[in-house]
Amino acid sequence: MKIDKINILGVNLDNIGTEEALRKIEDFCNLEKQHYSVTPNPEILLAAQKDIVFKNILNNADLKIIDGAGLVWAAYVCKNLSKVKILNIFIILFRTLKFIFYKLFKFKFLTFANRITGVDFMKEICKRIPRKVFLLGAIDGVAEEAIKKMQNLNYKCEFVGCFSGDVSYQTFPLIKKKIEISKAEILFVAFGAPKQELWIAEHLHELKNIKVAMGVGGSFDYIAGVVKRAPNWMRKFGLEWLYRLVKQPWRIRRIFNAVVRFPWVVIRNS
Ligand code: UDP
Repeated sequence: MKIDKINILGVNLDNIGTEEALRKIEDFCNLEKQHYSVTPNPEILLAAQKDIVFKNILNNADLKIIDGAGLVWAAYVCKNLSKVKILNIFIILFRTLKFIFYKLFKFKFLTFANRITGVDFMKEICKRIPRKVFLLGAIDGVAEEAIKKMQNLNYKCEFVGCFSGDVSYQTFPLIKKKIEISKAEILFVAFGAPKQELWIAEHLHELKNIKVAMGVGGSFDYIAGVVKRAPNWMRKFGLEWLYRLVKQPWRIRRIFNAVVRFPWVVIRNS
């Protein structure tokens, strides 16, 4: 399967649809080697600019789905730019207007990169892949609640355990033991980025039964219903950030980074 690669700010992303991405996860589960998947969004790519270790972890991931309308925009406006920097500003501006227009009126003549959000991808994996799954992270009780919600929907996977709360270095032996006993094959880690990716890179090789690990940010919170997702129409237009700003105003710094700093850094680097 040949996957179209898109490089944004030095991170090679996989332009892949949900079906193909699911097939990849299934393949990973059948192989001896362990794999991990990442779900980059604008904030993650900004963090990777300042942290080469994190950037390498992202680039070395076996699957890097595009999570975030900002990345779809960046992939579109930065394609085949000219060598003349000043000209690029006008090209990007023109393409941005075209991008907004096509998105707004749902024109299908232009194809943009595939976007799969981490939470949707996690749910699809649980729904469609009949493997043993372990949930690690979020505050006490949230992972259990997320499992309950998904079990009620008769997902195909088997939830074999979860661990929330303190995940400091001292508790690693305990986490390892729980995961080993559970015989889980797929591990979802929800510590937020970059903590979850660094944790996976450091510990995956010690969790021998895990075939695929993936950092999923706030996904358990969404699935458990602790945090509400933006309504569908807002997601379609890439306006989750606005919903989050209203619902979680304390995240303003992170939202500013994703909505203002990220486009600025992309333009400056093109
Ligand atoms: N979290 C955790 N341990 C930590 C830090 C965060 O389990 O040390 C959890 C937190 O409870 C939340 C998730 O990690 O469930 C991160 O959510 P956030 O909304 O920041 O992620 P995003 O979806 O924005 O990447």
